Amino acid sequence: MAAQLNPQQLAAVTTLDCPLLVLAGAGSGKTRVITEKIAYLVKQGTPARHIAAVTFTNKAAREMKSRVGKLLSDKELRGLTVSTFHSLGLEIVREEHGALGFKKNISIFDEHDRLALVKELIKHGSGHWDIDKVESYVQRIGRWKNLFVTPERAIAQEQGDGYPVALLYAEYVRHMKSYNAVDFDDLILLPVLLFHEHAEILDKWRNRIRYLLVDEYQDTNLTQYELVKLLTGKLGRFTVVGDDDQSIYAWRGAQPENLAQLQRDFPRLKVIKLEQNYRSTGRILKVANKLIANNPHVFEKKLWSALGYGDPLRVLTHKDEIAEARQIASDLLHHKFRHGTRFSDYAILYRSNHQSRPFERALREHSIPYFISGGMSFFSYTEIKDIMAYLRLLVNSDDDAAFLRIVNVPRREIGPTTLEKLGAYANQRHISLFSACFEIGLQQFLGEPAINRLRHFAEFITDVADRAQRGDTFAVIDEFIAAIGYENWLRETSNSEEAARRRMGQVRELLDWLQRIAKEDEKEKSLSEVVSRILLLDVLERNQEENAGDRVNLMTLHAAKGLEFPYVYLVGMEENLLPHQTSIEENTIEEERRLAYVGITRAQKLLTLSYCTHRKRHGEIVECEPSRFLNELPEEELEWPERRALDPEQKKELARGSFAAVRSLLNRS
Ligand code: ATP
Ligand code: MG
Repeated sequence: MAAQLNPQQLAAVTTLDCPLLVLAGAGSGKTRVITEKIAYLVKQGTPARHIAAVTFTNKAAREMKSRVGKLLSDKELRGLTVSTFHSLGLEIVREEHGALGFKKNISIFDEHDRLALVKELIKHGSGHWDIDKVESYVQRIGRWKNLFVTPERAIAQEQGDGYPVALLYAEYVRHMKSYNAVDFDDLILLPVLLFHEHAEILDKWRNRIRYLLVDEYQDTNLTQYELVKLLTGKLGRFTVVGDDDQSIYAWRGAQPENLAQLQRDFPRLKVIKLEQNYRSTGRILKVANKLIANNPHVFEKKLWSALGYGDPLRVLTHKDEIAEARQIASDLLHHKFRHGTRFSDYAILYRSNHQSRPFERALREHSIPYFISGGMSFFSYTEIKDIMAYLRLLVNSDDDAAFLRIVNVPRREIGPTTLEKLGAYANQRHISLFSACFEIGLQQFLGEPAINRLRHFAEFITDVADRAQRGDTFAVIDEFIAAIGYENWLRETSNSEEAARRRMGQVRELLDWLQRIAKEDEKEKSLSEVVSRILLLDVLERNQEENAGDRVNLMTLHAAKGLEFPYVYLVGMEENLLPHQTSIEENTIEEERRLAYVGITRAQKLLTLSYCTHRKRHGEIVECEPSRFLNELPEEELEWPERRALDPEQKKELARGSFAAVRSLLNRS
């Protein structure tokens, strides 16, 4: 294996006596170093169960797992952890729930649940809140968590506007605990807090994870960095790899400065740079380097490629997003027939999820199979949310968010007034809605018929949960879906018989998936484990399970990180789209430039850029200017007829960022 590695890569793989940072540009083999190093560690005698490799997306984790799978036997692989940061966090939280003050079956709250909870807190709490700002409160709480700030610290350090939000944060944390629930950020924060307080638990985990490898290190936030530090201890038994030019999660609290901080925290840190790019042609690399040179740099990097210079990059101009999608679909088909490639060799990358829709339509029109990673999918369907809520309630009856979602689905004549009163009572008694259903005191708030209906529901759930625990879990789940008459409910609430059938099909798909997860690895899993695993996939990526197949890849630039494709279309290269409008307003253009850099460097052989002169936005047709990033690319490497047509004066104007020239030109044609 090692024969194919270049000397710097080999050094990175075999360095074990000190903490190591591999800092290198896109496509230089950083991820490869991680996978080879796992194999090397195992061959050197570290059992796989003592090695953990973490990254940021499920897709990247799967990819890494499959690469390691080619280097080691099944036996050698046993017990290896290759996961996302959050899955590792979940494993710790589940195992240490007692020390954290949680009960066994913990629920994971998604963004929707978390928003709903904060809304409730604001409604019932004192203080002057602006309901329109709920999202910003939630974001603020998330930021604190990512910066490793506890409620106590937030309360102590905040004055003015921040102070009430800090109180809200404390309230939020209290409620989450009483629901026996954690959110996405907790999965990192709670292990860190736990390790700070319990040396013996930390020791146990340090002993378990004897070597830690982190991919895409530039995207770690402060709390994640703290977790890395805690787990690896003073010895710093870790290898982290990253590229500061690909840091694209500042909005989630990622801090590329963590790269520099490493050197301060670990004086024995060794830094290895990789300079050969094995992915892209020279021309693609040149264009990428030229673009990113517009950002200030902490670390200088050089990248070169031995893969030949390659074809020029095309810039396509379209009159609107429908034309863009159609032309690209037919361009792709054309290219495929000419070169005998596979559909899966192509990727269409865009800045925002909503841009996928015209492409989906156009690809279908051309009968081109495609797959959307990380888009709006499976988990946003009502029926999936319903069934997931039932499952959450089955494993954790204190999960109020789940309770509220399905207590009246299908209809049980439990209306909002009943629920409001139930909520007020539960609040007063500091218990969950579910427990409140059984309390005598409820009679002061509600009449007998309402109480009976609530109890009937709660008893039903208790009964199913009992049976699922004792018997064949999945048979019980099938039965209960039949017992609540969910299929009929779908018929009642769908527009057509056909739609109802399709929705029931989705439910079946979810159940099949649960069963598959229950059976994967050798480990026997409880329903609760299976449910939390699925919820985590959901929270992380809102992703449909990936099934391979020969399909065109559609995804956002964020989802594309770490991946590579022979032929890439980078679409919607327009001002206000890439760079995104909010980043123009908030002056965070550098992050958008890194995002464009990530997009360009995904391409191996051919890169096609495209933009529209008009686009429908929020129901209105607006005029669009080509992205400033297009103008930052070296002109001689682009085939961009619309730009060539400009006279020198117009070009100068274009370079100054005024696009009136282009507009008038395009309007003429
Ligand atoms: P990114 O920054 O985009 O995550 P990366 O630095 O992680 O990129 P890899 O994905 O590890 O890069 O490698 C890019 C490509 O180069 C892969 O196809 C990989 O197999 C190949 N590669 C890496 N090292 C070598 C090598 N020494 N010889 C040949 N091919 C290599
Ligand atoms: Mg990588």
